[in-house]
Amino acid sequence: MLFLELARVFEKVEGTTKRLEMFEILSSFFKKVSRTEIDETVYFSQEKLVPSFKGIEFNMAEKMVERAIAKASGRKISEVEKLYKKKGDLGLVAEQFLVRKQKTLIPSRKLSITEVYEKLMKIAMVGGAGSVERKIGMLNGLLTHLSSIEARYVVRFVLGRMRLGIGDPTIMDSLSKAVSGDRMKLRPEIERAYNLCSDLALVASTLFKKGVKSLRKFKVQVGSPIRMALAERLPNAKDIIKKIGKCAVETKYDGFRLQIHKKKKGNKIEIFSRNQEQMTHMFPDIIAALKKQIKAESFIIEGEAVGYNEEADELFPFQVTITRKRKHKVKEKAQKLPVVLFSFDILYLNGNDLTQKPYHERGSLLKKIIRKGFVIRLAEKIVTKDPEKLEKFFEENISRGTEGIIAKRLDSGYQAGARNFNWIKLKRSYKSELKDTIDVVIVGYFKGRGKRVKFGIGALLGTVYDKKKDEFKTIARIGSGLSEKKWVEIRKILDKIKVKKKHARVDSLIKADIWCIPKYVFTIKADEITKSPMHTAGKKKNEPGYALRFPRIQGWIRDKKEDDSTTVKEIEKLFRMQKHVSTRFRIKNK
Ligand code: AMP
Repeated sequence: MLFLELARVFEKVEGTTKRLEMFEILSSFFKKVSRTEIDETVYFSQEKLVPSFKGIEFNMAEKMVERAIAKASGRKISEVEKLYKKKGDLGLVAEQFLVRKQKTLIPSRKLSITEVYEKLMKIAMVGGAGSVERKIGMLNGLLTHLSSIEARYVVRFVLGRMRLGIGDPTIMDSLSKAVSGDRMKLRPEIERAYNLCSDLALVASTLFKKGVKSLRKFKVQVGSPIRMALAERLPNAKDIIKKIGKCAVETKYDGFRLQIHKKKKGNKIEIFSRNQEQMTHMFPDIIAALKKQIKAESFIIEGEAVGYNEEADELFPFQVTITRKRKHKVKEKAQKLPVVLFSFDILYLNGNDLTQKPYHERGSLLKKIIRKGFVIRLAEKIVTKDPEKLEKFFEENISRGTEGIIAKRLDSGYQAGARNFNWIKLKRSYKSELKDTIDVVIVGYFKGRGKRVKFGIGALLGTVYDKKKDEFKTIARIGSGLSEKKWVEIRKILDKIKVKKKHARVDSLIKADIWCIPKYVFTIKADEITKSPMHTAGKKKNEPGYALRFPRIQGWIRDKKEDDSTTVKEIEKLFRMQKHVSTRFRIKNK
């Protein structure tokens, strides 16, 4: 299949304003694409060269891409820069400048999806001395073989700015429809396999080449991150015990969720984030500690890494821990801000997949393999069936400054990628009526007024996720919680993913000044959830939607994906729960 056809599909996706149309366009293309090219097609649709956990990046700065475009089109760098300033998108610059050139230099042969993919992979793999010039040369070479519309998407792809925002659920639905004729028919099998290997292209090519039966055979593998299990919420200790009976209650730490894999071969250790990104290089201190403290040939464990304040002998809040997320000067930072890993689960041990084993068995295996030490510890926990004991443990945790607790069913397996009542979180903030924080996805922003005019941004449009429709529904206009410097920073970040009109997966009655693709997640604190006709979260025909009262940003961009944000369903639940806030907490605070 020609890459040109895929570029045309992306153009259609970009032009649509409806999520369902996006799905239709994609599924009919998947139906046409060959079995050998479905994996590359899926990667392109995910706007990735390889799954994030493989950690391969183009490492091409804008300036490098500008030079490649100049060379391929026979233009001067200054001309490229000038048009870029005007258009704000190097993809469009490449498209415009290559049109003329191609009138004189019609490419002799069009490239296939695989050929473009392989050439891009080669560019990404170039490293070491002289790599800047080589990458520019290779991209120039590729661009001269492309038509203008192909160049638009290749340039955006290399810069990580495709701005399609298709989303994994849409791709999974489209795969199911392409193979079975029905959107939902194969969705559970596709999703299960994806949850276990985090590589949607691998799942797609297995499905296309070997059929659905082989999807059912997918197993946990050391080195491929497992999509993480998530927690539901309930309003109080009593409801938790009523729901799951005798359970383990663990401290809920607020840091980085890490999944750590150790292979027997070569003793290789890899660390993945909640979004299955490579974090190995960021935690040399954890790696060193694992080598000393864990007695096992191979394993997959999970835990929360939290910054540790040696002077005060206490844990740092998330805003401080997040500063460990960096590419450079990692070792220096690790010395300045050591982390402690509170491990709470084990999914694989010495050749055995443990995900089907009950929680309590996994817990005792985890305990057995950890040697006492400073960095690697077990998450604190109690086991109880008494709501009062649960409540007491929760209060103790809150007073020590942790986020709350997570209660876990004793007899449940580890359900990759699932948010259900096997794990239940209970968080509370004494300061506001709304107990929990909310993770919103930013879909646009408003230009500033008054003092903020000079920043070009005054507020963000925040949404929550409607899982059923795979859409983002508005819930708040957020104008506080960031410093002046951070407002400027977020504007720049959002400008890189801005789109001309409201994205197809966004449902909004409010018009943002600048729209962007739903990508970045912020944690929001608010006083209350109220009803509002202006917002689409939870809005039904004749009923208003939900809104956040006095929303303010906490910290900075979270390590969550857009579809891992708070859902409309959770908002509905929180709305019902806030009516039950125990007056005790309010009085205590006065
Ligand atoms: P939330 O981000 O509010 O949905 O809460 C779930 C997150 O809590 C997980 O993804 C972990 O990062 C974090 N967490 C902290 N402590 C624990 C624990 N003991 N068990 C499971 N998750 C935990």
